[in-house]
Amino acid sequence: MFICPVCGETLIQSEKSFVCRNRHLFDKAKKGYVNLLLGHDGSQHGDTKDMALARFEVMQSGIYAPLKDCAVRTLKKHLHHPAVIADCGCGECYYTAAVQSAFPQAQVLATDISKAALEVANRRDKRILRAVASTYHLPLADASCDAALNIFSPFAAAEYARILKPGGYLLMVIPLENHLWELKQVVYDKPYRNEPKDTALPGYRLCEESECTYYKTLSGARCMAVFDMTPYRIKTAPEDRQKLEHIHALELTFSFKVLLYRKEY
Ligand SMILES: [Zn+2]
Repeated sequence: MFICPVCGETLIQSEKSFVCRNRHLFDKAKKGYVNLLLGHDGSQHGDTKDMALARFEVMQSGIYAPLKDCAVRTLKKHLHHPAVIADCGCGECYYTAAVQSAFPQAQVLATDISKAALEVANRRDKRILRAVASTYHLPLADASCDAALNIFSPFAAAEYARILKPGGYLLMVIPLENHLWELKQVVYDKPYRNEPKDTALPGYRLCEESECTYYKTLSGARCMAVFDMTPYRIKTAPEDRQKLEHIHALELTFSFKVLLYRKEY
């Protein structure tokens, strides 16, 4: 369950709101989420409505299904009867919904800074409890989660360490060297490959790492949609990005490492 961002007490859910014992009240939005970002309405943060919808369409097309399956498989192998799983920086809950289906008995809590993303997420599994919140200030109690997901979202190390139970699991996905290499070759004059990352994480033991690499042939429009979902979007000049408009079809490499860590006792 979420905690109150004002006093830290547990928030109790009723039909239309969440309230703590100190009577701090947070209305539930029509689209099912609750805004726990103090002093903000959340509309100005993160993905916009258009970005969230574009991402939803891309995800529905199944481009990232092999990664989703690999992530779920990895969790299923290690995680038995989890009570609480948190997805921090959940976006429109594509991976979150797969995890909820894989662990139907678990309470899955999802947070994102983007209100628009959480609105779109309402189209997915309605059992997931969703809150607008910063990953750097999670509305989750200390040592309350059996597992936490970090899939293409900022890794706020201190917050993850705080919310995980001792022995809790952290699932992380990182892009590998050749991820979207063909896209970069089109867009950049001097493309570079992703640097291999050090996977050691202080305070955790690495339980499993699996590589997930696959190829998909996409239209130019879809290539652009995929590009726009990456951090490259903000780093790239509009004239470079527009080079993608001239693509008819392109085979892209998707390449990730799925890492499962266990928090030390
Ligand atoms: Zn409160």
